[in-house]
Amino acid sequence: MARIVVNHRGPECRTAIGETQEMIRPILGTTNHVLFFASSGTGVMEAALVNVVGPGSRILVIEHGQFGERFTTIAKAMNITVDTVAIEWGQAIDVAAVGARLREHAYRAVVVVHNESSTGIVADLAALGALVCDRPTLLIADSVSGLGGIEMRQDEWGVDIVVSASQKALMCPPGLAHASVSAKAWRVIGQDERRSTFYWDFRRALKSAEQNETAFTAPVSLIYGLREALTMIHEEGFPNVLVRHRKLSAALRAGGAALGLADFCRDEPRSSTVVVFKVPDGLEGGAIVRQLYQDHRTVIAGARNRLSGRVIRFGTMGALSTGTILTDLLHLEDALTKLGLQIEPGAGLKAATEYLAATA
Ligand code: PLP
Repeated sequence: MARIVVNHRGPECRTAIGETQEMIRPILGTTNHVLFFASSGTGVMEAALVNVVGPGSRILVIEHGQFGERFTTIAKAMNITVDTVAIEWGQAIDVAAVGARLREHAYRAVVVVHNESSTGIVADLAALGALVCDRPTLLIADSVSGLGGIEMRQDEWGVDIVVSASQKALMCPPGLAHASVSAKAWRVIGQDERRSTFYWDFRRALKSAEQNETAFTAPVSLIYGLREALTMIHEEGFPNVLVRHRKLSAALRAGGAALGLADFCRDEPRSSTVVVFKVPDGLEGGAIVRQLYQDHRTVIAGARNRLSGRVIRFGTMGALSTGTILTDLLHLEDALTKLGLQIEPGAGLKAATEYLAATA
């Protein structure tokens, strides 16, 4: 990323975009062209809707956490009619309830967050894809915090639009987002010549992607960064990357449990890229976050939503190793002890190492 910034219409940048395209497709499980935008994740959430759902159309948003609610907010701002399937946070998506709603109305799209960063629950995209495959309804998935760290098989599962961004399991700085669009979604896009967007128009983005360019000035350094991150993922082997995330997040859960922290998720599938713990009674999540940062420069997250103060969240994504997890658990034990919890010294570390030894 520290290389000289080349002309974004020149051959070096086209090579970088082409190689990035090639390497991200297996991570998405698709043969689609991937459309890159200089944007954060929220931008491409909006882009997905504006390209296939006109004002007045009706969509079904599955809300199983904060980012599902964001999809609803975005859609309402666009004058889209939104129905929701509200799932209790921390519980798995009720696929049968979604199916029942689809029988009531021919929705333009079902919209879902693949990896709910606020709760740690993963959506069963294969089951949701099976619900829409014989209907005109599209399936739109936000995999901002999942892609690269948990499995995505876009084509096989029948996900019509997947949006994601550079800064989570793809291990880059923020600012480069992308969308992968199925043939079914392209047919919907092609039916309607009017689009109330200019920057986000997928048709223009596709024309550029076919030339290994972006429609507007490419964030060249971020593309170099993403190409390198994808190279690292493929050098390790993507299946190995998935196993590493699964094992280490489970080891962190085991260690957290031994420290007295209950998993916020009550159901499977649980995320491998974010681990969400309930804050023990008598403590406040922000205090744990601050203690970890102040004493150890360990950065974790609390919640900026209805769970504020009640959960703490560990990112377990990207370049993470056994060492990271074990160090986090030591620091967590120290922070919780200082905040007054009675913990058997080394309990978290012991549980995590035992888990790792048992699954080696
Ligand atoms: N979707 C999910 C699941 C996220 O975790 C986030 C950010 O944390 C977003 C969307 C929004 O992405 P951004 O902050 O890049 O706009």
